[in-house]
Amino acid sequence: MASDIMVFVEYKDGNIRKVSLELLTKGQELAKKDGATLYAVIIGFQIQEVAESARAYADKTIIVDNESLNEYRYDTYVSVLEQLVKKYQPSFIFSGSTVTGKDLFPRLAARLNVSIVSDAVGIDFSDNRLKVKKPLYGGKVISWLSFKEGVSPLITFRPNSFSVEKLSLSGEIVEEKIDIFKDQKFNVLSVNKGGIEKVDLQEADFIICGGRGMKGPENFQVLEEIANIMGGRVGASRAVVDSKWREYDDQVGKSGKTVSPKLYIGCGVSGALHHTMGMDTSKIIVAVNKDPNAPIFNYADYGIVDDLFNVLPLLKQELAKSKQDI
Ligand SMILES: Cc1cc2nc3c(=O)[nH]c(=O)nc-3n(C[C@H](O)[C@H](O)[C@H](O)COP(=O)(O)OP(=O)(O)OC[C@H]3O[C@@H](n4cnc5c(N)ncnc54)[C@H](O)[C@@H]3O)c2cc1C
Repeated sequence: MASDIMVFVEYKDGNIRKVSLELLTKGQELAKKDGATLYAVIIGFQIQEVAESARAYADKTIIVDNESLNEYRYDTYVSVLEQLVKKYQPSFIFSGSTVTGKDLFPRLAARLNVSIVSDAVGIDFSDNRLKVKKPLYGGKVISWLSFKEGVSPLITFRPNSFSVEKLSLSGEIVEEKIDIFKDQKFNVLSVNKGGIEKVDLQEADFIICGGRGMKGPENFQVLEEIANIMGGRVGASRAVVDSKWREYDDQVGKSGKTVSPKLYIGCGVSGALHHTMGMDTSKIIVAVNKDPNAPIFNYADYGIVDDLFNVLPLLKQELAKSKQDI
């Protein structure tokens, strides 16, 4: 039997998030190999525009459009997804390992009583078997997991695990009318969205991350300038966030965000395990640290042993020049 795949699609301002496009691209590739159906699931209010974009990737785009789904709440979203999974019976259910995915999918797994693989970074389909790549022990071990016959796992993938291709299918859109369960035990009083519109940290291709070695919040200006030149984002270690130099939204690591950009530059970051767990799958890692024994150099593809206050102005100058030359 073909292994149908369902992708939970996230979107922002009417546009599908990059991580969901990655999963739709990969999901379509896998489904095509197996003669299976790729379902895109979109939940929210007034989501026709998003559904139209998803049609290019999915064989079937299932939408649940209801005013009570306007803001994300785990109770309502879990109840909708639970019913859709039971109805369509996909073999695999994917989500990005995003803030929402991390909140939603473990709850959904418990509700459906199925296994979950979280924070996966790759997938392979060969010999009629799907295998999922997942780092363990802070990235020190890479495991490949496969599933027993009849198990339909939920899998969350780190953003930037797959590339996005522009597909041009014209899949069907199916609107489902579903009873939405709302837990009366709590209410969302307000939602505070971040003030400045920044590239999402988890989806950024370029991250320049400052650690305690940056010495103070005022010195992050040069990191902002470099991030602007590169169209990326500034990240921070927990030491920096705990010192209130940067917001929690910028934190990379175990208790922050897991990132996997094409290029990560750590400046004055020591490379403690709780930090590297959140960035060690970055495609290229560069470290700037004045201590040649800093653990971050064990992860770095390129290391600069120097005072970051010497290095950063030069780095900014060179990056600006190379951008002009392109
Ligand atoms: C449960 C738990 C969860 C955690 N979660 C996270 C997390 O999500 N993210 C995270 O980052 N941490 C996390 N931590 C904390 C983590 O263990 C480290 O304490 C933290 O990452 C250290 O931050 P840092 O590298 O900025 O600071 P430090 O370890 O103090 O390192 C500063 C570095 O800057 C270098 N430096 C200083 N001055 C200069 C200079 N002028 N030029 C160049 N280099 C210089 C130093 O050589 C040093 O290596 C967690 C800890 C626990 C217990």
